[in-house]
Amino acid sequence: MSQAKRIAILGFSLEANRSAPVSDRQSFEQTLYTSADDFARRLASDRASLPGTVRGFCATLDESIDWTPVPIVLAEAPPGGPADQAFFNQMLAQMKAALSQAMQQPGALAGVYISEHGAGLAEDIDDADGEVFAMVRDVVGADVPVLATLDLHGHVTPRMNAAADVMIAYLTNPHVDQFERGTEAAQSMMEMFNGMQPHSVLVRVPMISPAVSLLTASGPYADLINYGQSKLTPKILNVSILAGFAPADASTNGMSVVVTSRGDVAPAQQLATALAARAWADRERYTTNLTPLNQAVSQAKRVGADSAAVPILLADVADNPGGGGRGNTMYLLRELIEQKVRQVVVGMIYDEALAGQAHEKGVGATFSALFNRDERTRFSEQFATDVVVEALAEGDCTGRRGIYAERRIDLGRCALLRADGIRIAVVSRRHQCADPVFLERLGVDLSATRVLVIKSRGHFRAGFDEHFKPEQIVEVDAPGLTTPIIEKLNLQRVPRPVYPLDPDMIWAP
Ligand SMILES: [Zn+2]
Repeated sequence: MSQAKRIAILGFSLEANRSAPVSDRQSFEQTLYTSADDFARRLASDRASLPGTVRGFCATLDESIDWTPVPIVLAEAPPGGPADQAFFNQMLAQMKAALSQAMQQPGALAGVYISEHGAGLAEDIDDADGEVFAMVRDVVGADVPVLATLDLHGHVTPRMNAAADVMIAYLTNPHVDQFERGTEAAQSMMEMFNGMQPHSVLVRVPMISPAVSLLTASGPYADLINYGQSKLTPKILNVSILAGFAPADASTNGMSVVVTSRGDVAPAQQLATALAARAWADRERYTTNLTPLNQAVSQAKRVGADSAAVPILLADVADNPGGGGRGNTMYLLRELIEQKVRQVVVGMIYDEALAGQAHEKGVGATFSALFNRDERTRFSEQFATDVVVEALAEGDCTGRRGIYAERRIDLGRCALLRADGIRIAVVSRRHQCADPVFLERLGVDLSATRVLVIKSRGHFRAGFDEHFKPEQIVEVDAPGLTTPIIEKLNLQRVPRPVYPLDPDMIWAP
């Protein structure tokens, strides 16, 4: 009788923004930090608390082979500053100890699955993901398949490529294919169990692209990814093109093209080189088209005053919690209040103290709300305005649509406050407003919302598309930690030369 295959699952996921406050242990524990029995329990009976990648990986193996998941450590924080170095060291040591122990048990390990973001930093380490990958390979040895999924905003380093057999990046932005990529990892691992030999080739392209230029519905990045997918053949196992994350401001920055072939390395080399050349030739198409703040607010004022006007969504792309933004800058809100704009919903401001105060006051109470009383981050200025508490919510909710679909999210204590014609959702956990349920649970009727303000760079598009089509979306140019304007990020540590900071540079793969 053949024994169940023991497969380890681990991962470290942090999209690190160099300019944001350090991501400490608490930032992980409030989002996802699980190991041992707790991780086993979630895998067995609470998968809604785990990322879509892990759910897809497990579901596919469940249907296909006799296997036993071996839980190691899964750590995920909201996008934020580099991981606290002591925390990162402890986490890595915990992963290593659990993996080593698993290797010594009967049956050892048949494979390792890493669910990773890829744009991680620790305070003293630019290639934090490479640390994790290298540790895994070091512990399990050369013969155990190691497969990973990555966010397409990640960076692939030679160290990662040397450690992993197969790396599979998301193909969609907003990232609605997390489950499918987990499935793909499981299928590729099973192919390896049956003797398939993967060869992955990495080509790094010196391009740093504005986050808003990286959507996959259309545009240069969509064209590149689609072209890569059209080249899948029996010889080509996977094509992953990771555009990277500009605000990481690290030696790892840039675009990574990773092609994995079956059996023979030559097809992967040829295709990776061709894709890198194609990306480079198209570099000038990766641009922004932002609307100045005052112009966006004037447009909102017109829409709020005219019930016949088409509703609009203002995306505060520079204060995106999904990119390390604090989700609490006041530039747009202050202007909306000063201009007395009507029929507005703002989703969502991260302010735990204010949300807590609203809960103490209760529904119907009026008070002077002071935003950012405890915040010391650049761009997060204090602002006071009189509000009425309209609604309260607390505890977990389950995503309904887009990147959080089926995933349970804890936003802590939440409140809907009204300041004249503006309703403001305030939350206690820093997440981007990418799912309509975050507002609907506070009683907001999105079909009746004339002006919706969302602190998110682009993932909101997959959540709010029921009511706001691409032509109704206005990307606003306001100050913030996640501005998509590369020149405003003041990047100090990226490898030079790099496009577009060195626009006249010459490069070939
Ligand atoms: Zn991403």
